[in-house]
Amino acid sequence: MMQKYPLLEIDLNKLKTNVENVVKECKERGIEVAGIIKGTSALEPCIGAFVEGDIGQIGSSRLEQLELAKKNYPDKQCLMIRIPMISEAEDIVRYSDISLNSEIKTMIALDKAAKDQGKTHKVIIMADIGDLREGYRNLDEIIEIALEVEAMDNLILAGIGTNIGCYGSVFASKEKLQELVDIAVAVEGRIGRNLEMVSGGATSSFMRVLDGDIPSGINHLRIGEHILHARDLDVFYGYDLENMNQDIFTLKCEVIELKTKETHPVGEITIDAFGKKNQYEDRGFRKRALLAIGKVDIGSFEDIYPKEEGMEVVGGSSDHLILDVEDYKKPLDIGDIVEFKINYGSGVYLTSSQNVKKAFV
Ligand SMILES: *Cc1c(COP(=O)(O)O)cnc(C)c1O
Repeated sequence: MMQKYPLLEIDLNKLKTNVENVVKECKERGIEVAGIIKGTSALEPCIGAFVEGDIGQIGSSRLEQLELAKKNYPDKQCLMIRIPMISEAEDIVRYSDISLNSEIKTMIALDKAAKDQGKTHKVIIMADIGDLREGYRNLDEIIEIALEVEAMDNLILAGIGTNIGCYGSVFASKEKLQELVDIAVAVEGRIGRNLEMVSGGATSSFMRVLDGDIPSGINHLRIGEHILHARDLDVFYGYDLENMNQDIFTLKCEVIELKTKETHPVGEITIDAFGKKNQYEDRGFRKRALLAIGKVDIGSFEDIYPKEEGMEVVGGSSDHLILDVEDYKKPLDIGDIVEFKINYGSGVYLTSSQNVKKAFV
């Protein structure tokens, strides 16, 4: 079968440039970068672009993705960024060199797995500085756990890390990140040596690099969104990102119907295909295009943006997208291709959807 659309085009040169830019800006401040590939669903050419851009480590929240990275690039360090499951301890040690951790039971399992494989495995102990996802909230507990890990034969306590912004929406301020440095310094005092890594967060912490006020002591960041899309820091925080490519991904979809219809459904309104009750704004009759792509490929219709002016995503269902084209001034026909920009949210779905073809340019 030679299906052509929907198509996701990925510009690998632009991706590599973004990797290089972030690596360079961090290096100037003594910070190493783990490139987080989960937003690409570990498409192999994308992993390649991270490696070519000289990324410090390849990181992912999914072990299958690290397994793939490890097989293709055995010399590249792999970082597991989601707290491991005990049930995957053996593979964590097999396919990742470093993992982020927050439970001693799991670290005991990792220590045993490493011993069985005749290896050592590095761990970063996660401190929760208020965002309330993973990590220890209490300094005494972090120190106690650090001392326990320090005494293990097959685990190496590589550092202390945190994650901020993902669940609790906490802003990665200079003061917040200083809390992490203070924790790391306290741990270093108790174990009597310097830690290799103080891992200060994700894209949201990169703002501190751009502002030049990242607390000294933080020497590692884990960056995904800012490399892949460079959108959040621009759209939500107003950063001028002129050296970053914001159009690495282009989504192309085909028009399968073009008609002028009512904008408010006609009949008694109940629930949609996903069991949701929706509001429909009555804008009278408008011209709309139906495209062959849907929620299962995109996640949310709010996460793709038509490139052309005069087009507006109205909604859709699992396999259809409705595009308002009343204000679109150029010709549009059945079989034509409409282009969209995407963001991190839709990117995760699009890259993993088997319905969506991928092309690397
Ligand atoms: C996803 C993730 C990252 C990367 O986040 P971005 O905002 O995409 O940079 C970093 N660390 C952890 C623990 C993550 O889960």
